[in-house]
Amino acid sequence: MDLLKEKILREGHILPGNILKVDSFINHQVDPILMKNIGIEFANYFKAKHITKVVTIESSGIAPAIMTAIALNVPLIIFKKNSTKVLKDDIYQTPITSYTKGLTYELTVSKKYLSPEDNVLIIDDFLANGEAASGAIRLIEQAGATASGIGILIEKTFQPGRKRIEETGIDIYSLARIERFTDDSVIFVEE
Ligand code: 5GP
Repeated sequence: MDLLKEKILREGHILPGNILKVDSFINHQVDPILMKNIGIEFANYFKAKHITKVVTIESSGIAPAIMTAIALNVPLIIFKKNSTKVLKDDIYQTPITSYTKGLTYELTVSKKYLSPEDNVLIIDDFLANGEAASGAIRLIEQAGATASGIGILIEKTFQPGRKRIEETGIDIYSLARIERFTDDSVIFVEE
């Protein structure tokens, strides 16, 4: 998606540890016009999948996910990151390790928001090691629902996430695919 790639080139900052900082338009300040376009793009790509729910993981995926949910006219579910396991039988939980913080969380959703009839689209800001997306897939499977697609804003193709998700057979669509970082710039995969 050219609009997103241009924004990354203009405003992204490369940090140590292969982290791309996109605080001025995704993670801290949010560009609403960009998010609206992203929502339309994902909705068009996944429209044949008969999506019944969009899910994301708090908090950076919420803006593009709500725009996608509006475009598909379905509810958005936000998977929570609990710091501890909760012994309650009305929730599903699975552990994930955060790429940027290195902390382990219990990804959590209430049982009442997912059911076996659901075709779910997962939306997230980054794909790195695939921890967040894999955790989201596990929660959807615990509910007996179907993970029908994954929409990612920025994929770092040199990290193992894509391979891990491809092994599940779920369709992934990434809007900006990064091949590598140089000292001061971002090189995208030629599409
Ligand atoms: P994964 O679970 O695929 O290893 O990492 C994805 C999650 O880590 C995303 O939800 C995102 O919050 C965070 N993340 C991974 N890489 C980056 C990055 O380069 N920049 C930022 N801002 N977040 C990242």
